Amino acid sequence: MNFLEKNKKIVYVDYNATAPIRPEAKGAMMDVLGNPGNPSSVHSMGRQAKNVIERARSQISEFIGARKENVIFTSGGTEADILALKGSSSLSILISSIEHDAVLEAVPKARRIMVSQSGVLDLEHLKVLLKEAPKPTLISVMWANNETGVIQPIEAVTNLASDFDALVHVDAVQALGKLPINFLNSGIDMLSISAHKIGGPTGVGALIIRDDLNLKPIIVGGGQERGRRSGTENLAGIAGFGAAAEACSKQEDANEKIVHLRDYFEKTILAKVPRAKIIAHKEKRLGNTSAVFMPGLTAETQVMAFDLAGIAVSAGAACSSGKVRQSHVLKAMNLPDELINNTIRISFGWQNSEEDVNRLIEAWLRIYQDSN
Ligand code: PLP
Repeated sequence: MNFLEKNKKIVYVDYNATAPIRPEAKGAMMDVLGNPGNPSSVHSMGRQAKNVIERARSQISEFIGARKENVIFTSGGTEADILALKGSSSLSILISSIEHDAVLEAVPKARRIMVSQSGVLDLEHLKVLLKEAPKPTLISVMWANNETGVIQPIEAVTNLASDFDALVHVDAVQALGKLPINFLNSGIDMLSISAHKIGGPTGVGALIIRDDLNLKPIIVGGGQERGRRSGTENLAGIAGFGAAAEACSKQEDANEKIVHLRDYFEKTILAKVPRAKIIAHKEKRLGNTSAVFMPGLTAETQVMAFDLAGIAVSAGAACSSGKVRQSHVLKAMNLPDELINNTIRISFGWQNSEEDVNRLIEAWLRIYQDSN
């Protein structure tokens, strides 16, 4: 029995951790897997491999309103974040306190911009930090948070940045495919994206950078990606990324269906259990994400109970298994301990149905009743 057959009965609502691979991505990958061509080789097989990469570069740049030359392929969102932060020659870096660990760990000494109790960047605090920071300054703010789904005021950030001549990096790993992105019109200097959140494979992503931006590579060697990221390209991964981006761009109605499922879930839970809470309920959030507080049961216990019920959810970020610690995102929002400890993340996606949501609601209510 293969992986998919074994897991057929599981309701998968953990799309922010990773999404199922799209058939288009799988097809594009299978197509090139047998090709021994190295994209740097001049013979015809090498040239064919190069064409695969350039096609994917076009598909991705079209999807996000960038030029092909803006796209640097990396091994994922993590590497894209690290390249942006370590490759820039800024003298000071300001990051939001709710960034992904890839950003937090890349620049541990960076000053942190506060967020409100509902997880939105504090622009006044950013202004204060910008006044104090040695120039040139780089600001790094995620487009949408992976745990709460809260969408950040990116336009206001780029406006402020231009007042202070600062550069802006945006981690758009969770925003890609869920929000419209137009890189060239955004005022953003660098943007991180990752394939596996949109139905491409894991292990491939990209940093999108402004044409004239000076960026020091962090991986040096053969000079691939115009010297900005060396290493023989992940041909199948890149092909899958391109195909997933194109498939995603053609599925405009998918997000509408997903918001409807998410809202139906939230409304039902709140109606039946008034003590339950949806974190940042009133804020602009990604339409697929719900950070939901269940009174009386820790997130870890909930995740295990849901797992036994055949439902895959997450206790906050899911980047390394077995880590039991309080979410730095909910902590930065200054929420009471009970909310921090008892909140799980549910993230819906294009394969979910109303039947899945009904099973999820049923399990949620049963788990709640058993423990209260
Ligand atoms: N940034 C955000 C906001 C994420 O949610 C993730 C993954 O969960 C990453 C970066 C890392 O991306 P990748 O898994 O492709 O390294």
